[in-house]
Amino acid sequence: MSRLLPDGEPSFSFEFFPPKTDAGMRRLWRTVRRIEALSPTFVSVTYGAGGSSRQRTVEVTKRIAGETTLRPVAHLTAVGHSVAELRRIIGQYADVGIRDVLALRGDPPGDPRGPWTAHPEGFTHAHELVSLVRELGDFSVGVAAFPERHPRSPDWESDIRHFVAKCRAGADYAITQMFFHVEDYLRLRDRVAAAGCETPIIPEIMPATDVRQIRRFAELSDAAFPEDLAHRLEAAREDPDASRRIGVEYATRMACRLLAEGAPGLHYITLNQSDAAIEIHRDVMAERGATPALRG
Ligand code: FAD
Repeated sequence: MSRLLPDGEPSFSFEFFPPKTDAGMRRLWRTVRRIEALSPTFVSVTYGAGGSSRQRTVEVTKRIAGETTLRPVAHLTAVGHSVAELRRIIGQYADVGIRDVLALRGDPPGDPRGPWTAHPEGFTHAHELVSLVRELGDFSVGVAAFPERHPRSPDWESDIRHFVAKCRAGADYAITQMFFHVEDYLRLRDRVAAAGCETPIIPEIMPATDVRQIRRFAELSDAAFPEDLAHRLEAAREDPDASRRIGVEYATRMACRLLAEGAPGLHYITLNQSDAAIEIHRDVMAERGATPALRG
């Protein structure tokens, strides 16, 4: 088991993105404070596609490390970076005591489905970034996993082979892409186990409370969105409270089943708004007979 994940108990964690505006930053910070009160295992901050948003990722991650009791995991991608630049970014994190990196290849900026072009002095695949982070010091390293197969993988065989290779390059754990069918996660986990790899795979939980927004995300990530859930959310479109309840209930059921099936934790997408993710987490804990610790 990795150093980031607790022994025995499932981990629970929350994902943020770096906001573009001051108002977005204030909202994120309110969310961070509410989530801090739940004492999660870790939180993570996504890495932007370019320039200023990347700088904001670094700033937000450092601020969480410096001003809260939370343990931030920094997402990092190889997109547009030379190896020297990647070394510098990892060094900046190490300087402020951040020792947890989610190492990703990333997608081409602009069109995520466009042709991938590596930086001339950079990396082509995530396993190279995993090796670099490992080489640079005592970091915990996570990688991405895809319950419905990575959209660029031609078949399952190569998808699993490359996933196992990046785990063997030094990943302690993986976090999945969003998905809406528990069976997809279980099949991935079984395929990885059958390939002789025991890296824990944490399922990502997306609260599906806004049907249009989720359809867009699901399309971008090639996640199959269940039609029955879509119909129920469509029917409740004019009623935000009812939509939220439907999305929270669906995600809670999924999360409980994943834990019952032995998932090593849950990673909640927050979209920088805590309500739905916290509600799901509370309901999951209540189902399991545990009350989330509340501080402050
Ligand atoms: P890789 O592991 O390199 O895989 C990419 C493709 O290449 C796969 O098809 C794989 O099978 C194949 N492949 C791998 N190794 C080889 C090899 N040696 N030879 C041939 N083919 C190979 N993106 C962001 O920009 N910022 C983020 O913060 C971010 N966070 C994410 C968090 C999670 C939990 C997940 C699941 C994804 C995240 N992404 C993020 C998206 C991610 O960067 C993209 O999905 C990207 O396309 C894949 O990244 P990867 O690290 O899995 O790449």
